[in-house]
Amino acid sequence: MVSEPFDAVIIGGGPAGAAAARLLAAWGHSVRLLTRTVDQTRSLGESLPPSCAKLFDLLGATDAINNAGFLTSTGNTVWWGEGTTRTAAFVDGATGWQVVRHDFDALLLRLAASAGAQVVTGALVRDVRLASESGRPGPAVSTVEYGTDDQPRQEVQASFVLDCSGRAGVVARRGFRIADPTQTTLALAATWTRPDGWGLADASHTLVETYADGWAWSVPVTPHRRYVTVMVDPRTTDLGAERGVTSRYEREIGKTVALRGVLNGATRETVPWGCDASLYHADVCGGPGLLLVGDAASFIDPLSSYGVKKALASAWLAAVVVHTSLTNASLAGVALELFTTREREIHDASVRQSTTFFAEAAERHLHPFWTGRAGGGDPADGPEPAADVDIARLREDTAVLAAFEALRGARQIRLRRGDRLQIEARPALTLREVVLEERLVLPTWPANGHGIRFLRDIDLVKLVELAPEHEHVPDLFEAYIRRCPPVSLPDFLGALSVLLAKGALVDD
Ligand SMILES: Cc1cc2nc3c(=O)[nH]c(=O)nc-3n(C[C@H](O)[C@H](O)[C@H](O)COP(=O)(O)OP(=O)(O)OC[C@H]3O[C@@H](n4cnc5c(N)ncnc54)[C@H](O)[C@@H]3O)c2cc1C
Repeated sequence: MVSEPFDAVIIGGGPAGAAAARLLAAWGHSVRLLTRTVDQTRSLGESLPPSCAKLFDLLGATDAINNAGFLTSTGNTVWWGEGTTRTAAFVDGATGWQVVRHDFDALLLRLAASAGAQVVTGALVRDVRLASESGRPGPAVSTVEYGTDDQPRQEVQASFVLDCSGRAGVVARRGFRIADPTQTTLALAATWTRPDGWGLADASHTLVETYADGWAWSVPVTPHRRYVTVMVDPRTTDLGAERGVTSRYEREIGKTVALRGVLNGATRETVPWGCDASLYHADVCGGPGLLLVGDAASFIDPLSSYGVKKALASAWLAAVVVHTSLTNASLAGVALELFTTREREIHDASVRQSTTFFAEAAERHLHPFWTGRAGGGDPADGPEPAADVDIARLREDTAVLAAFEALRGARQIRLRRGDRLQIEARPALTLREVVLEERLVLPTWPANGHGIRFLRDIDLVKLVELAPEHEHVPDLFEAYIRRCPPVSLPDFLGALSVLLAKGALVDD
């Protein structure tokens, strides 16, 4: 019997796969998630920043996560070599989560199943035959081949394949993935216990300590148990091929100062193990019927503690793209393009952020481990795009301030559209869909080229449409709030000043 193809088959049951499965199933799609058996003893303790909360809400997972008993964290403590200690609490007293990944992943998989996704554990995906590669006419359906203990060879078909297989990159490795040659990193990890506590000002903090040729990092998962990992570059540190992992690990821990103190009197409860933490990315994150999601597409430095958040955000975006493509095929191409663009932007922003950290560390440790990383990889080479819709910056922009003063002093206005202004339909995201939205597009603003619709809730397209019809600012304001949701007068004047300063409107 040939069964109906699924809307989506998801390869991998980490945060990306489970989140995408939960969302798609909750939105009414048929989903099968295939995930292989993982070695629980190699599960890491990881830090999730407070900003994950929004994604947990989106997933409808907040209560389950908050009731799961994960340790909450109030911030980070960083030791720059033997120099200063930097203690940073999360902004506004927010808290993050310190999770053992095996438990966290299992929870997300249960949530995916409870939303209606078919979750098959112990399923190793061996091959994927993409519809786009078959060249056959007929409905575009891909085939995923996998095996379980009971049935070593099974096949499932789907309109979409989501590669959420992390570093394994079941499909991503077929020419999508580009390794970052500047950052080859080996992580060596072990867990430690200390029944009498750690003697730290705040034991919930993630600890980071840099040393000459690497860095160490520790995540507490209970008040008495913590994961301690060292990151080294096998190209710049002689790990001693003849030594076992344990003595390599101990030697690296021995290079730390503060962390060694924290561990003094503690017991290492596991044999250290190693895993690859080298960076890579994909310039193209999918194709027709295929998306590379989370770590399958790109891996950001663990230093950022944003890997899981990035995977969840990527999963949400992937679910939106699949949902859009299946419900409005005319937007499938636009949605796919948006996916790749967003994924690339998030990855690049993260690379820039860690490069800043590396540069700071390189000032203290003149070692190729740091200087190589401070040089940055390919995506960070370009300048950071100007945050030119940043309200704080706009408030200090001299042209905006001048336009504001001119508006205040004007007895009459005669506004018209600037010659170089275009109003174009551009892809935008709602919670579930990619839609086309009219936006203002100017050659130089906003610099990201995506165009702009809203500035502090002011609908700029509507404002540009209404502006030529009124000769006095108060009349224009009244006309605007009759057509659009209410906004404050200062915000309205600010937006109008920005439109004038950027050339979207001209006052004759
Ligand atoms: C040393 C280290 C420390 C880190 N620390 C942090 C941290 O503190 N905070 C943070 O947010 N991030 C951290 N990260 C990053 C984080 O682990 C990843 O970004 C995150 O796991 C990505 O989730 P994912 O779902 O994309 O991939 P993964 O979590 O890797 O999930 C992939 C899944 O696919 C499955 N799979 C693979 N191949 C197959 C196959 N052939 N068939 C079936 N299933 C398959 C795997 O078993 C796995 O379940 C760290 C990473 C490392 C290496």
